[in-house]
Amino acid sequence: MKKQFAVIGLGRFGISVSTELHKLGHDVLAIDVNEHKVNEMVNDSTYSAIADGTDEKALRNLGITNFDHVIVAIGDNLQASILCTLLLKDMGIESVWAKAQNYYHHKVLDKIGADKIIHPEHDMGNRIVQHLMSDKVIDYIELSDDYSIVEIGATDDMHRKTLIDLDIRAKFGVTILGIKRGKNINISPMANDKIYRDDVLIVIGHKNDLKRFEES
Ligand code: ATP
Repeated sequence: MKKQFAVIGLGRFGISVSTELHKLGHDVLAIDVNEHKVNEMVNDSTYSAIADGTDEKALRNLGITNFDHVIVAIGDNLQASILCTLLLKDMGIESVWAKAQNYYHHKVLDKIGADKIIHPEHDMGNRIVQHLMSDKVIDYIELSDDYSIVEIGATDDMHRKTLIDLDIRAKFGVTILGIKRGKNINISPMANDKIYRDDVLIVIGHKNDLKRFEES
């Protein structure tokens, strides 16, 4: 379903978020104080506008209150990031996601009601570490401090075995959410579905259990 997003601040993170949402077919309003940044986004957004994210009147004139999701991607200017997030929540925007530069910035954004706080460098760092630590891990999503979803390549030992044969949940406490085979994904596989050598398993679980599974 097509959704409406506004992205305020067009640094590397803001540009990447706007471009990907636009590619997925959503309406994207890209905003920055810097005219040059806005001009760069003309082809990768639905609308683009030069405006100050801390100027309530300017945001209202752009119709920001019609957007269900606003992403505050202002980086180094912490004051602007905080004020912009506060204004958006005050204006009643349902979902405001904000990029945090550090722990204290995160705490303030949390206090003023940001619905999701993103640390792109930290999150990407975590993903890369997971790749480096295990050659089996293909991708990784952190759900909380304790739980994650990982994509793990099936091993030779798993070839042609069913989920019952492998008994992964009982042995490791993790759950297979899906099996990717080429371009196909088998979501919620049945107990007697077979795994093949080149499959990729999408697995959810506690980090300690996932680690045991990866190392098995
Ligand atoms: P990234 O790591 O994503 O490149 P960054 O953390 O280096 O970003 P900045 O470059 O400081 O962040 O800011 C991102 C963008 O936010 C810049 O293009 C900047 O012009 C824009 N910006 C800063 N203040 C405001 C504001 N008050 N309103 C709108 N845009 C702003």
